[in-house]
Amino acid sequence: MKATNPVFTGLETTIFETMSRLAMTHKAVNLGQGFPDVDGPLDIRQAAADALISGPNQYPPMLGLPELRQAVAAANKRFYGLDIDWQSQVIVTSGATEALADCLVALVEPGDEVILIEPLYDCYLPMVKRAGGIPVRLRVTPPEWALDLDALERAFNDRTKAILINNPMNPTAKVFSDEELQAIADLCVRHDVFAICDEVYEHLLFDGARHRPLMTFDGMADRCVRIGSAGKTFSLTGWKVGYITGAQELIDPIAKAHQYVTFTTPPNLQKAVAFGLGKDESYYDGLSAELQAKRDLMASGLEKLGFGVLPCAATYFLTCDISGLGLGDNDIEVCRKMVEEAGVAVVPVSAFYGDEAPGNFIRFCFCKQDSVIEEAIARLSDWMAPVAAGAIGN
Ligand code: PMP
Ligand code: GLN
Repeated sequence: MKATNPVFTGLETTIFETMSRLAMTHKAVNLGQGFPDVDGPLDIRQAAADALISGPNQYPPMLGLPELRQAVAAANKRFYGLDIDWQSQVIVTSGATEALADCLVALVEPGDEVILIEPLYDCYLPMVKRAGGIPVRLRVTPPEWALDLDALERAFNDRTKAILINNPMNPTAKVFSDEELQAIADLCVRHDVFAICDEVYEHLLFDGARHRPLMTFDGMADRCVRIGSAGKTFSLTGWKVGYITGAQELIDPIAKAHQYVTFTTPPNLQKAVAFGLGKDESYYDGLSAELQAKRDLMASGLEKLGFGVLPCAATYFLTCDISGLGLGDNDIEVCRKMVEEAGVAVVPVSAFYGDEAPGNFIRFCFCKQDSVIEEAIARLSDWMAPVAAGAIGN
């Protein structure tokens, strides 16, 4: 038999799916995969249900329902002051994952270098490679996950076609500083590079911070594509409704990729998301305030247990340093023991690296009911009590 494509052949199932399966097997509290355990607003779900019954349930326009594209353009204006033409600058996709694939296959040519920042979201490396791109990885380093601006500058050259940046960032919960974004923007302009901006956590910032899209920086409107996800913005991750905003010259080829990947996205979900994007400030403020309180609950519980809780400015995730806890120094092993013995599923951060990953960080997902977070902390507390006696890790 001929060989199947090497990028995907032998690739492991994603860590998120793996941990969710293990959580089910061991009846564990699932703080692994990033999804809320309470569904998003009832009125949005009702809008989807109504649209499902009233129809039409046939192919919607390939770029997305006009009302959703208009809502995406309006949200860009309202939140970031961006002037977006809904007809030529917005595409609706089946989740941010499809959006990322569309952007990569449409913008990258075989042999192009694509800059990625580690730790990176799991689909980035295989999707860049499958597009024929050559990944050029650089790292942000804990505990602040600061970007080394000299290393960034060295990563750009004449062969660079694009940088793929996730801001706010999973799993680090970092929000890129204005200085870092400015440096990226300057280098993109200087080297004529596209920026693919995965901004799915754009509305999940804490402590009063506001998201600042790279697209708003000087010279970036023409070379950025910005990806959002209704899954994150409305706590409906199973819906897989995403959107891409960008210059018409970039959106054109990306739309051609989209037309042969999924072509369209369920129309009732699009209608409901259009309704959701129109919600007033209190919805968006409430979402981040609620998550912030969960972050604090989770962080204080983990700190009491001795975990080295890293700063968390956004997203669904808290990253912890497990050094010195007596749990071991291999994050994958620690996560395996934690799900099997403590009944708490989390994600090893080494899964977000191409190679040479640090082994001392694990990621906790905190978009869960308070009682669930408390149960996880109680289970961990019971499990870790005998650590001093050396019972764990042997
Ligand atoms: N990018 C990042 C950084 C993510 O964490 C996720 C996970 N949900 C996605 C993209 C995918 O989003 P969607 O579910 O809309 O495909
Ligand atoms: N983005 C989610 C996470 O980081 C997972 C989404 C998925 O399972 N593909 O946990």
